[in-house]
Amino acid sequence: MARECWGYAAFDHSGTMKPFRFTRRKCRSEDICFEVKYCGICHTDLHQIKDDWKELPATYPMVPGHEVVGIVCEVGRDVKTFKPGDRIGVGCIVNSCGQCDHCKRHLEQYCERKFVWTYNDKDIYVDGNITYGGYSTLMVVPERYALKIPEALPLDAAAPLLCAGVTVYSPMKHYEMEKGGKNFGVIGLGGLGFMAAKFAKAFGMRITVISTSPSKEQEARHALHADHFVVSTDPKQMKAAEKSLDFIIDTVSAEHSMDQYLPLLRTNGKIILVGIPSKPLEVSAFNLHAARRCVGGSLIGGIRETQEMLDFCGKHHIFCKIELIPIGYVNEAMVRLVKSDVKYRFVIDVAASTPPEFRPN
Ligand code: NAP
Ligand code: ZN
Repeated sequence: MARECWGYAAFDHSGTMKPFRFTRRKCRSEDICFEVKYCGICHTDLHQIKDDWKELPATYPMVPGHEVVGIVCEVGRDVKTFKPGDRIGVGCIVNSCGQCDHCKRHLEQYCERKFVWTYNDKDIYVDGNITYGGYSTLMVVPERYALKIPEALPLDAAAPLLCAGVTVYSPMKHYEMEKGGKNFGVIGLGGLGFMAAKFAKAFGMRITVISTSPSKEQEARHALHADHFVVSTDPKQMKAAEKSLDFIIDTVSAEHSMDQYLPLLRTNGKIILVGIPSKPLEVSAFNLHAARRCVGGSLIGGIRETQEMLDFCGKHHIFCKIELIPIGYVNEAMVRLVKSDVKYRFVIDVAASTPPEFRPN
């Protein structure tokens, strides 16, 4: 039977969210249905509700949320790895072709046919219906895209790992940063940046945080054990940091010039873009050629890698510092996110802030 669901949705590109009732499909043999407990607010949610990206146009009503954790309430008859009562997580992907070379290599995020985003997409592999994310009471997901949340992690602070965590972990692994010993820089100490700094320390790298917010310095140095903190709006500090870094992960969500940051890289240094500003970035050829620098990009992570990252976090007790909010606060949270005013991820306490009449039974 289809299930009644309640959540918050955006209805137009003003991005203002309001309560919304809808139904989820019934649990098929390969599906898991779970009660959402917490959902992180990724800056992508803000880009999407505001229809910032022409490459991923918005469909309304849009229920955002792709950092979703909860407790399983029902499993289809073919589900083997989850049972009612288990902790479960869902990130950015809820389906893919499963047949192409990339899917077979567990790189569903680069599926050659199409992978299905957790929200603002159509699930062409199930029923063609619009997908709705985790700012809602219930979710239904095929077992293949469900993740195990290690018991060692607090459920609320584990939510941001499902997008912010894996989005930085994946390129860090791809470029073998886990071998340690390198000088690592992260631009932007938001949700992704915080997780990148955590992994960089766990991998044994020296960290430079490059930020527009001097107010984040103390925490970066003490809680994240950053070796250096550079205020990017201070030309003297930027000059002093020139040619000091082997890798940079750029998490900036807004328009910016890469030329401001490229001089920080040493010869053969690499800057990996994970932030998704809506407009193209400026890059001077001279800044690349002068020290054989590379610019790369990376999109979230596959399901197997997301599980590997979660297990790594469980083992090393890594999770995000969060600000827990009721679902009715989402519009204020978005206003603060624009101003980089969150340390370091808003997480919605979905279960506790759902009105009693809409709670799943
Ligand atoms: P966030 O929490 O808002 O963090 C972004 C940080 O960038 C801010 O906290 C701020 O840090 C810095 N920043 C903001 N405006 C800036 C500007 N004009 N110049 C320089 N720095 C600025 O956002 P997030 O959730 O981490 O997401 C970051 C970006 O990654 C978004 O564009 C999001 O869509 C994208 N994303 C991409 C993927 C992927 O697969 N590639 C996955 C998830 C998210 P300071 O205060 O330290 O300066
Ligand atoms: Zn995200």
